[in-house]
Amino acid sequence: MTRFSQQAAPLGPQPAHILSFDVEEYFHAEAAAAAGPDRWDSFERRLGPCVERILELLCDRGVSATFFVLGWVARHERSVVAQIAEAGHEIASHGMTHAMLGRLAPEEFRRELLDSRRLLEDIAGRPVVGYRAPTFSITHRTAWALDVLAETGYRYDSSIFPVRHDRYGVPDAPRFVHWAVGPGQGRILEIPPSTLQVLGMNWPVGGGGYLRLLPVRLVAAALAGAERCGQPGMIYLHPWELDPGQPILPMGPLSRWRHRVNLARTEGKLAWLLGRHRFGPGGRCADAVSAQVNETYHYGPASPS
Ligand SMILES: [Zn+2]
Repeated sequence: MTRFSQQAAPLGPQPAHILSFDVEEYFHAEAAAAAGPDRWDSFERRLGPCVERILELLCDRGVSATFFVLGWVARHERSVVAQIAEAGHEIASHGMTHAMLGRLAPEEFRRELLDSRRLLEDIAGRPVVGYRAPTFSITHRTAWALDVLAETGYRYDSSIFPVRHDRYGVPDAPRFVHWAVGPGQGRILEIPPSTLQVLGMNWPVGGGGYLRLLPVRLVAAALAGAERCGQPGMIYLHPWELDPGQPILPMGPLSRWRHRVNLARTEGKLAWLLGRHRFGPGGRCADAVSAQVNETYHYGPASPS
């Protein structure tokens, strides 16, 4: 099976890198999945002040970003979403329930896409065109989700991490913006998180725990590498990553370490990156580059060629 149909060409002029936030509470993270959705209503909510700090920082630096908002947040923290929209940032969908796509049937996923878009458009008063799956859970196994995204009219997706990882990833997927084609031939513009290519492998650096754990100069190196290829990079964070005081939830030692490492350093690293690179929202990038993107990649279970 041939997955690539055309390789990437530089996009010009140099588009801004994409800055994105997955707007969820600390207890929505996959690492805290043992806590379970039936307990979410009982946890202390800490999202509002974290989002306010992010909005202040972005306002100071004159940067617009994309906020992929969980439907649960739209239902329970409507004023936080309204505040983000009023500040002029792009509101996009992070689904409804934070279930990784391997746990959803295609029809349940379609419902999440439609319900979250309706809720978010009602708050933001603007079209919602972007989507990010919980825990980057679009892989070859869940590639049917690309067909559903295309059918439901989303314009871009940012759910495929081109790395090897125990929870997610498509290690040989393109590292930059490309057309992602599902097994049913649905097609959508894909914006992957930034990676570094070292020793012939892609290494995740573009956000979340990687941004917290690694020297920030490695993240900057990935963005500079994208610039040399004439491509936008993409960074992602969660508001809870700026909150070292969040309660400690029951989780295994590896998950706890991943979830909590260097929480106190996230804000400083983000501020440093904002001072060195130009960032914007994913929707604006999709508008600017979609006509120029010629790289296509076919996702789905491999078939004999
Ligand atoms: Zn998430």
